[in-house]
Amino acid sequence: MGSTENHVCGAATRFAPSPTGYLHLGHAYAALFAEAAARAEGGRFIVRMEDIDVGRCRPSFDAAILDDLGWLGLSWDEPIRRQSEHLDDYATALDEMRHLGLLYPCFCTRKDIQAEIAAAGQAPHGPDGPLYPGTCRTLSPGERERRINEESPFALRLDMEKATALTGALTWHLPGGDPIKARPQVFGDVVLARKDVPTSYHLAVTVDDHLQGITVVTRGEDLYQATHVHRLLQALLGLKTPLYEHHRLLVGETGRRLAKRDQGLTLRALRQSGKSPAEVRRMVGYD
Ligand code: GLU
Repeated sequence: MGSTENHVCGAATRFAPSPTGYLHLGHAYAALFAEAAARAEGGRFIVRMEDIDVGRCRPSFDAAILDDLGWLGLSWDEPIRRQSEHLDDYATALDEMRHLGLLYPCFCTRKDIQAEIAAAGQAPHGPDGPLYPGTCRTLSPGERERRINEESPFALRLDMEKATALTGALTWHLPGGDPIKARPQVFGDVVLARKDVPTSYHLAVTVDDHLQGITVVTRGEDLYQATHVHRLLQALLGLKTPLYEHHRLLVGETGRRLAKRDQGLTLRALRQSGKSPAEVRRMVGYD
């Protein structure tokens, strides 16, 4: 338990895409933002592949992403870490939390959760939608064992109330900013290991940022709320807390944030249309 705040002196930053599609202009901005933050401090910039989503990630996108980043003129300081190759690290972290009595198996399907919420008439909402109603939190040990023995698939959820009671109040910081009070409760009992993959975004990213010595996490403001959960996991696992900088998201002509569906704004498409790396950098404000 406990954690140490990092001090920025040669910041280490990362760009952490998921190889589920081609990079678009928004990714180029995020990557250049992270690289600039590292280089400004004479620090380290790394690229990490967040490829735990086995159903959606493709080696061909992984290769295309690295190729596009290189074309844009980015270079990174360490071999690429691929999350799918480090499941042991996440298992170790899960074991620690299991020993603290903070995890429980959740057998619910999406449908079960929707039905439970409908029956209750309402459910508090968090950043990812309605909060999990806690159905499996109160299963008896016998019932859990029975379902595990009959090989019902299960996820592992964090008992948020127990976890926050254990850590007490926590804060995190923007570079040079006042402390921000961590409010992981807004997510309810988050999933830390999915039914199909023995980890989750929240767990893998927290463990990796620690193991890779990241001192400033730069990422889109859509992930601002996730930082509350990551801060809690750091405290539970005794990991260092980086600084967090959430950058704006680029929007398309309709004012909607760019997404993988914006095919015309992928770096691939821009390259094919004859744009140079310098032009693309200029389009996102990094010339
Ligand atoms: N892999 C995430 C994404 O592609 C970014 C994760 C992070 O920066 O924490 O949106």
